[in-house]
Amino acid sequence: MDAIDISGKTAIVTGSSSGIGLATVRKLRAAGVRVAGGARRLDRVEGDVVLELDVRDEASAAAFVEAAVAELGGVDILFNNAGLALGRAPFTESTLDDEERVLHTNVDGVLRMTRLVLPHIRDGGHIVFMGSIAGRQPYPGGASYIASKYAVRGFSYAIREDLLGRPIRVTTVDAGLVETEFSLVRFKGDQARADAVYDGLDPVTPDEVADCVMFALTRPPHVNLDEIVIKAIAQSSGSHVVRRES
Ligand code: NAP
Repeated sequence: MDAIDISGKTAIVTGSSSGIGLATVRKLRAAGVRVAGGARRLDRVEGDVVLELDVRDEASAAAFVEAAVAELGGVDILFNNAGLALGRAPFTESTLDDEERVLHTNVDGVLRMTRLVLPHIRDGGHIVFMGSIAGRQPYPGGASYIASKYAVRGFSYAIREDLLGRPIRVTTVDAGLVETEFSLVRFKGDQARADAVYDGLDPVTPDEVADCVMFALTRPPHVNLDEIVIKAIAQSSGSHVVRRES
């Protein structure tokens, strides 16, 4: 099956200042796609159109979408990538602030961006969600993040139903350990704890996740790749990882 040419298309990528979002922006642009990228750290965002975006905030998201659509002249691809986890502890230690930040970003933000962008998505369009293996199988100490990624998977299934009959494709990419700033954010700036997550194994890289996104986008228009699950070979689940002896 040959890859289809997506050059000349347009894309919105949320969370394009780091990690998987940034890697995907670069691959999309290399494939000739014009990209509007958004995140809160504007100085680190890449794209043909670079705009500030806080997916938790309706006014910020609406202004972002209005400006992106005006600059791009229509949207073919939406990559709902922005997201985060906070903490790795039993739910008995959860805080309201952490729960709100995770759920407002990963769940409300994804629904909000999809609602705002959908009216501008052209026939032949594609919505891609950044899920996680945390949305398929729980592990200890990640309850709010796990709940949020189960919600993302549920929403992707639901919107696939609602869009059935329209030429708009829906894909979710569920990743395991990917070495990005994800763990640094999760452990609130504790670099040693973040590094330990990837110690003694070869984690998946952001480029390798971006390759999955690109693969889904470049299938023939009648093919909907619903779900892709990608993990390091040293990982079978969120809590089952084998590390090399140091
Ligand atoms: P990352 O390097 O920390 O990147 C996260 C991105 O999300 C950043 O660009 C960040 O930008 C953006 N973001 C966070 N809150 C935002 C908000 N309120 N509004 C707009 N943008 C926001 O981590 P990553 O690994 O690339 O994460 C990307 C996605 O992959 C997330 O949905 C994550 O859950 C998922 N994922 C990651 C892994 C992993 O192991 N790394 C595994 C499975 C799934 P600003 O901070 O500049 O706003």
